[in-house]
Amino acid sequence: RKSVVRVTTGSQALDELLGGGIETSAITEAFGEFRSGKTQLAHTLCVSTQDINCGYFLFQLPTSMRGGNGKVAYIDTEGTFRPDRIVPIAERFGMDPGAVLDNIIYARAYTYEHQYNLLLGLAAKMSEEPFRLLIIDSIIALFRVDFSGRGELAERQQRLGQMLSRITKIAEEFNVAVYMTNQVIADPGGGMFVTDPKKPAGGHVLAHAVTVRLMFRKGKGEQRVCKVFDAPNLPEAEAVFQITPGGIAD
Ligand code: ATP
Ligand code: MG
Repeated sequence: RKSVVRVTTGSQALDELLGGGIETSAITEAFGEFRSGKTQLAHTLCVSTQDINCGYFLFQLPTSMRGGNGKVAYIDTEGTFRPDRIVPIAERFGMDPGAVLDNIIYARAYTYEHQYNLLLGLAAKMSEEPFRLLIIDSIIALFRVDFSGRGELAERQQRLGQMLSRITKIAEEFNVAVYMTNQVIADPGGGMFVTDPKKPAGGHVLAHAVTVRLMFRKGKGEQRVCKVFDAPNLPEAEAVFQITPGGIAD
């Protein structure tokens, strides 16, 4: 295994929960209720992963704000990436927002096949340039749209499995941290479909592919809570964090 690097989430409590941050050569998944901070963490990681990459502000960050050193690839399936959000987050980390944005390769995916082809293209790019982070927000959304018909679940899961093995290969081959968001499932209940914020979508196929599963929920006021849902080396504990203008923080 190549030397694993941990990327700070911006919250010390969350980093401690994760044993230091989001790790490279692994897949970290966040699922949970809407507005719980999954996409905001994606934006924060885009910045924090670069904190020792850009030569001229190399020394502006205390070493305690460790990061991953490399480019970022962002696959957006829901159209929720906001370059404007990167600016105050970069400023908080003492970084030049323009330089940070220049290091983010962004692509919007419109179908699951498009999503897969983007991954193939990224793998080629990663063999040429150093990347440290791959974000997929969300992994499942397009599968749910493209395989919405009855009787399509088996094929959906097969295609999802193919996509995930491609992602695992990227994580390991290029020593990249993969952060993906996931949705929660809707169960039929009382004649209606109700979402269950404690049940991640994607079934066993997704559960097996992911290294660290995190469940996010809203807490009091601006607080958010992250619980380790499933991870081989982490206790099933919780951490409280906040969403601030400067990104994820304590
Ligand atoms: P979904 O399931 O809908 O995709 P999510 O988990 O991705 O939800 P986010 O978009 O990450 O949710 O988080 C939304 C929350 O982030 C909102 O509560 C919003 O108030 C907060 N937020 C967004 N921008 C800022 C900001 N600039 N400053 C502080 N909080 C912000
Ligand atoms: Mg989101």
